[in-house]
Amino acid sequence: MKSFFDYERPELAAMLHPSFRSTQLFKAVYQRRVENFDSITELSKGERASLASEWDIRLPAVHRRFESVDGTRRYLLRLAGGDDGELAETVFIPEETRNTICISSQVGCALACTFCLTGQLGLTRNLTAGEIVTQVLFAQRDNLSEEQAGSFNIVLMGMGEPLHNYDNVMKAIRILHDKHGLNMSMSRITLSTAGLLPAIQQLATEPDIPNLAISLTGATNTKRNELMPINRKYPLEELLAAVRQFPLKHRQRVTFEYVLLKGITDSVEDARNLVKLLRGIRAKVNLIPLNEADELDYQRPTELAIQRFQQVLIDNNVEAYVRKNRGNDISAACGQLMKKWSDIPA
Ligand code: SF4
Repeated sequence: MKSFFDYERPELAAMLHPSFRSTQLFKAVYQRRVENFDSITELSKGERASLASEWDIRLPAVHRRFESVDGTRRYLLRLAGGDDGELAETVFIPEETRNTICISSQVGCALACTFCLTGQLGLTRNLTAGEIVTQVLFAQRDNLSEEQAGSFNIVLMGMGEPLHNYDNVMKAIRILHDKHGLNMSMSRITLSTAGLLPAIQQLATEPDIPNLAISLTGATNTKRNELMPINRKYPLEELLAAVRQFPLKHRQRVTFEYVLLKGITDSVEDARNLVKLLRGIRAKVNLIPLNEADELDYQRPTELAIQRFQQVLIDNNVEAYVRKNRGNDISAACGQLMKKWSDIPA
């Protein structure tokens, strides 16, 4: 059985007869949310039966669901793509003006950033395009009515390095962007990378490009080499040179995520180094005070240190926000759910 969600509409058109069925099916599955082919009554009974024997349109099952007092919902979803029973972490974050769905691109991650729990898991495998797409559909249907269906942004900031799984991630983005499917605008999709340089350069040449976010956490090579081993391969000056050349639309900016670690990345000097680094880049900085976890040897900075850091950026005309901690009561950090709950039966 093939997963419907693994295929772009032109691919489906080449496989289905007549080919316009691909558009009909995209609309039915992505827009009308049908969960079985029998509900697509514009098709003949025979066609429905034949599609049902070949194509799987089921969404992943929930292994665990966690609800925060602030409305954030975290899911461990049982992936349908492999037969390995692996899990992906997906988060729905409600907000007044816009909701956010945070999705994973890999099971675990190979990049071993020292402040990240997912990095401690190592890489198990890449997710398929369909496994990436269905996380979005699951979180959308579990939280938003059909009228609210489009009122969310997607961030690829869950488990994994998206650009390490380039082909599947880009395919999933194209499927989510399809005007006969969810019709997600590229400006509402953000891909966050630790800085895989060749893949950033490749991304820059794509016809449709999502927003780019760079996970920085370290404003000098010495610090970043320690915190993010990928920096030893692609040092800051090369990474920032690629970002400077990245195509941006009018008023679009590159987001830099900077995790604040007490005594390590939170000093005024660190903030000044960050200002220097970002000079000449249309940038926005998200400061992320560490979510502490037993497994991590780092601490969250004091509120004073966080404010002081932000103020240095603002005083130097760098747009800087402190990310609110959402869903803290249900998980301290990305990857923690996976670590704690994957072996425990639901
Ligand atoms: S911060 Fe991102 S790239 Fe680094 S280990 Fe965690 S998931 Fe991987």
